[in-house]
Amino acid sequence: MLLLEVLIEHAALALDRPFSYVYRGKKPVQKGYRVLVTFNHRPSVAYVLSVTETDKTVAQLEEERGFSFSEILDVLDEEKLLNDELMTLVDEIAEKYFAPRISVLQAMLPPSLKPRLSSLKAPKIAYEAYVDVLSDDETDLTPKQIEWLRLVVREKRIRKKDFRSDTILKTLLEKKRVKLSYEEKTRLVLPEFREQKPKSLTHEQQAAVDAIWESSDSVYLLEGVTGSGKTEVYLTLSEKVMAQGKTVLMLVPEIALTPIMVEYFSRRFKGRVAILHSELTPAEKYDEYRRIARGECQVVVGARSAIFAPLSNIGLLILDEEHVESYKQDTMPYYHARDVALMRAAHFNAKVVLGSATPSLESRARALKGNYRHVRLPHRINEKELPETTIVDLLNPMNLDRESVMFSLSLRQKMKETLAKGEQIVLLVNRRGYSSYVSCRSCGHALKCPNCDISLTYHKEDGMLKCHHCDHVEMMPKKCPECGSTHLSKQGFGTEKIEEEVQRLFPGVKTLRLDSDSTKVRNRVAQVLESFRKHEADILIGTQMIAKGHDFPNVTLVGIVLADIGLTLPSYRSAERTFQLITQAVGRAGRGDKKGIAVIQTYMPTHYAVTLGASQNYETFFAKEMAMRKIQQSPPYTYLIGITLSSKDEDTVVSTAYALSESLIKEIGSVATILGPTTPFIPILNGIHRRVLLLKYKKIEPVAPAIQRVVATLGTKSQVHLAIDVDPIDF
Ligand code: ADP
Ligand code: ZN
Ligand code: ZN
Repeated sequence: MLLLEVLIEHAALALDRPFSYVYRGKKPVQKGYRVLVTFNHRPSVAYVLSVTETDKTVAQLEEERGFSFSEILDVLDEEKLLNDELMTLVDEIAEKYFAPRISVLQAMLPPSLKPRLSSLKAPKIAYEAYVDVLSDDETDLTPKQIEWLRLVVREKRIRKKDFRSDTILKTLLEKKRVKLSYEEKTRLVLPEFREQKPKSLTHEQQAAVDAIWESSDSVYLLEGVTGSGKTEVYLTLSEKVMAQGKTVLMLVPEIALTPIMVEYFSRRFKGRVAILHSELTPAEKYDEYRRIARGECQVVVGARSAIFAPLSNIGLLILDEEHVESYKQDTMPYYHARDVALMRAAHFNAKVVLGSATPSLESRARALKGNYRHVRLPHRINEKELPETTIVDLLNPMNLDRESVMFSLSLRQKMKETLAKGEQIVLLVNRRGYSSYVSCRSCGHALKCPNCDISLTYHKEDGMLKCHHCDHVEMMPKKCPECGSTHLSKQGFGTEKIEEEVQRLFPGVKTLRLDSDSTKVRNRVAQVLESFRKHEADILIGTQMIAKGHDFPNVTLVGIVLADIGLTLPSYRSAERTFQLITQAVGRAGRGDKKGIAVIQTYMPTHYAVTLGASQNYETFFAKEMAMRKIQQSPPYTYLIGITLSSKDEDTVVSTAYALSESLIKEIGSVATILGPTTPFIPILNGIHRRVLLLKYKKIEPVAPAIQRVVATLGTKSQVHLAIDVDPIDF
């Protein structure tokens, strides 16, 4: 008989401990397999943590341990889903992020493999249905049916899902002009890319490759200005690593950037590349996952969750644009891909390369301290000039007219000239630009917290201004406290509003829009980018996601419609975000042969994040921002942990939060600062009340046991739900 220790599918922290079951069946079962068990009288999926043989009977075991044993209902897998390294990683992540191990498993596995009951029905083998021609006879067909029949004839075969009308397809099937056939889709079909020989590296690129290759350090910060050719460095290093029989994990921050990176890698390493990202269907993801697990590919390219790719023998992990916040998951277990990369690298003794033109302050500070090895690419390939940059002060009435409050005269003029030359334009807005902060139209003053010097947030439900950092609250003033003007405005510029405005100002111009809404539709992002690259539209409007990585040779004008929304939002990272947005955006213009222009509209033309972003002066920005962080004692000078408590009952959540704050102060008040409880930006969500505590500390060792105790005591109270965010980015 086998004795199994398993982890039950249930994201409650209280259940984050193994339960024991026995198994007398014949199926093979090992650590890492999924099994079906009865838990709380219900069937549940569970993960096997350990298997031991026993000669004892169930009665003897029960006698010995003092609890009853049940038998597992079934073994669900025929092979191991997670190898030992990934099982160890589950424990490491659970420990660092105070997360239940089952939530880590859920983040790790593709949806069709997630430990949920519903997943058992998910496709194990994916089929693609095709429409094939039987006859091209057009008699007694309607014109519409003929049109489709001709299309199928022309294309030889088309996918059923591309066949838009079910009724026409049905008729053509009944009239025996076409037939359906099914083919097993064992793998995702990557577009065919021509193989490409490596470019000969520039002196600087070669030096960077050598520095990384020849050193025994494990983590590298590759700091290279936009257009300095970091991708070629990634490719060359990957080639070297693969030549040693090892594998490579290449991460990009957002799905929008995967197609480009996949193309680069597929051209160089034909047939050896796998993709993992959220736009794949569950079946496609399942296939790619198994293909990687079987060792059939040596490179995996993907967004955040690809960090869990079941590669073995990893030699190199690369995070491109390492500063981007989407590397951090914003739900349990709140992991950061960079930290997971470091954990996996330690296991394989692999190298980690963090690439960026504007490294996060954390990484740059670590590089300066010598924790990461600092490697630089200070010049653009072929010394291409940086675009000419103009900052437009939206507060100066000379810059605007009655036509538009969003588009200044100079931006409109530049847009007109660019369109006249047949060149393309990218317009950017800050993603976090919902109407929430308040500033003065006359003097530009933004209302800030007197304690924290960050912007206050307007709460619509009670009309108050609140600080999301400390617990400061104040009335919404009628006049600007600086100049007395009554023109206080709540800001908010969205992509849709901008598209409308563009179409009003430039009737007939073709626009495309890309924002987080677009990512909901499968492959939509890739389609929009492809369409823009083919010049099917003149203007691309979008959020941050288009500011990064893309190479559009015909784009000569980049306009940031409002650069400073980020500055006034309540986060210690506001200046950093704004600086990054501007630098990345400016780096987009004039990538081809033509010189680029960037226009930055702002209410804060003299803010250092704006001026230094415009001049791409990372060095000065870094120094200035580090000084600010030091004064505020914000990261990277300290670490943060956010604890969000939520409950249906407001009294319960408030009293629990206060009690928790008091006990934490008593316990670790000497090694950590405990702020709050505060009311978060969204205090009520679906009838659930929320309160937040923030811990600031320098060393995790004395703090961790206190948090673990909180989890152990509060985690079992079902009235209050606890979410712990280690290294949060938005407090
Ligand atoms: P980054 O990621 O650093 O912003 P890219 O990797 O996108 O820069 O490279 C910028 C451009 O320079 C790309 O068009 C790329 O094809 C080109 N490039 C890179 N390395 C070389 C090289 N060694 N020789 C010629 N062109 C190069
Ligand atoms: Zn004012
Ligand atoms: Zn405050």
